[in-house]
Amino acid sequence: MKKTIALRTALTAAALLVTGCTAERPPAAPVSAPAPPTSSAPRPAAEESGTPGAPAEAAAYRKWGLKPFAAPPAPPAVKPVVRKPGEPVPVVSDIPTEEKIVFVTIDDGAEKDPGFVTMMRELKVPFTMFLTDSAIRTDYAYFSPLVAQGHGVANHTLTHPDLRTLSPEAQRREICGQQQKLKERYGTAPRLFRPPYGNWNEATRTAAGSCGVDAIVLWRESMQIKNMQYQRGDRKLHPGDIVLAHFRGPSELKGRTMTEMTATMLRRIQEQGFTVARLEDYV
Ligand SMILES: [Zn+2]
Repeated sequence: MKKTIALRTALTAAALLVTGCTAERPPAAPVSAPAPPTSSAPRPAAEESGTPGAPAEAAAYRKWGLKPFAAPPAPPAVKPVVRKPGEPVPVVSDIPTEEKIVFVTIDDGAEKDPGFVTMMRELKVPFTMFLTDSAIRTDYAYFSPLVAQGHGVANHTLTHPDLRTLSPEAQRREICGQQQKLKERYGTAPRLFRPPYGNWNEATRTAAGSCGVDAIVLWRESMQIKNMQYQRGDRKLHPGDIVLAHFRGPSELKGRTMTEMTATMLRRIQEQGFTVARLEDYV
């Protein structure tokens, strides 16, 4: 399928050259040698429309004010972050890699904008959603098409508490309880967990491990309404960074929509020469 993406990028470039359209939007990154096929889990890649979809892909990106992303590199044969037997669950804010890739994560689940489902179907940018039961319990079904598109489902507790204020047993109820709900709704128990507010302690690691979590996932950048907030002083994306955003709507985004926020976030990533890879391929 990597081959498909590379081919489609090439066709997109060719289509733009032939038609001479939108000169202000150059084609995506140079086409490199097709990557070998991989056997990893389904990813939100460019398969459903097949090779003739390249102009459609370019058009879809144009519709959202973006240019197509470069194809991400083939996933590593060995994941750089793994849970080792007998050791605490790893806690990561970024993934060790030299590639110019970042990982998009979207939290909570309060906003349920149908336009976002359309956007992700058209753009096929992989992301992982960290879902909280209290934010989505009235409408688990909203996320089903996103799951079907191949985006990752991960655990963000039942009620979004500050876990550092809870007993080990209460932490366990928050994490294991949401594992169970997500498994019942979407068919697979999540492997990744994010503590609300990024607040955790050793009891959180123990609880998460006992609930079947393989990694606690924090972040390096946080997408605001229009700007990316950086933890590092150089205010730049670094290879392997995990980017946090939220399912938020106009009431929380000063009138902007979830799709506008997402387009801005993807533009910030493209501007810095990065492409988006699938977190579950690396951890
Ligand atoms: Zn949250």
